[in-house]
Amino acid sequence: MKNLLKKRIKLLCVTAVLVSFTFSCTKDDPESNSLTIEETNSIDKVDPNDPVVKTLVGKGWNIDKIEKLSNGDYVIGDVLFSGKIEDYTISKQARETLVDDYRNISVFIHSSVAQEDNTNTNAPNEDNWTDATKNAMTIWNSVPDSGLQFTQAATIQEADIIVLSDFGLLGDPTVAIGSFPEDGNAGKTIFVNLDFSNDQSLEYDVRLNNMVHELGHNIGFRHTNWRGLGEGSDNLVAIPGTPNTGNDPDPSSVMNGATALNGFAGLSVNDKKAVAFLYPN
Ligand SMILES: [Zn+2]
Repeated sequence: MKNLLKKRIKLLCVTAVLVSFTFSCTKDDPESNSLTIEETNSIDKVDPNDPVVKTLVGKGWNIDKIEKLSNGDYVIGDVLFSGKIEDYTISKQARETLVDDYRNISVFIHSSVAQEDNTNTNAPNEDNWTDATKNAMTIWNSVPDSGLQFTQAATIQEADIIVLSDFGLLGDPTVAIGSFPEDGNAGKTIFVNLDFSNDQSLEYDVRLNNMVHELGHNIGFRHTNWRGLGEGSDNLVAIPGTPNTGNDPDPSSVMNGATALNGFAGLSVNDKKAVAFLYPN
C-alpha cells in the first residue's frame, strides 16, 4: 500500500511532508475527479485572540485541545475546522436558500479510497471503503423521524462531502478525520488513513464504524464522551433529549471518541434521537 500511495502522491505532484488537508479540484477539466493536495507541514500553538479560536471556544470546545495546522485550519481530535472566520458566518439570505436543502447531502467516494487490491494479502479489500461509506450513509438515512438523506455523488463538483485518502499524510494513530459543518453546509471532507497504525488491517465492521462516526462529525455531532475526553467547555450546546452528564453519558453512542478499533454495533437510541432532532422530517 505504501508503494501505491507513493505512486499516487507522485502523480498528484504532492510535496507535503506531514499533514495536508487542503485540496482543490482541477479547474480546466470539469469532468476530472483528480485532486491537487497543497502542502501543510507543521502544527502550531493556537492564538486565543484568533477570531476562529474564539468562535470554537464560544461553541464549547476546549482551547487546550485545539491545534493549528500550518495551512491555517484547526483540528481537534479527529475533527477538522476551517481557519477562515468567514466560513463561520452566514447571511440571512444564504440561510434561507439552504434551509430547504440542508437535509439532502451528497457524498463523493474518491477512487483513492475505492482500491480493489492492495499489497496486504491478509486483508485484500481493506483499502476499499466504498461499501463502508455507502452502508454508513444508509444507516444514517434509516433513522425514523429523521429527514436526513445522504446520496452518492457522481462527481466531486456536485458533492457536499468528499471521502478520500489522506495520501499518507495523517498521523499513524488516526484512522480517519471528518470535518465540522461550516456556513450552513455539511463538513466538506473525510480523510481516510489507509496505512493507519503501521498499515494494520481493518475489518469491514471497523471501517463501517469509523465511517458512520466521521459522517456524524460532518453533519454536526461532536463526541458524546466529550467530557471524558476533555474536549468541552461550559459553552457546549447539548442536544435536547439526549444524556449529557458524566464522562460517558451514552456508552453505546457511535459518536464516542477514542473508538477507532470498534466494530459497528448500531446507532444508540440517543444517536437516533439526536439526528432526528437536528434533521427532522
Ligand atoms: Zn470523532
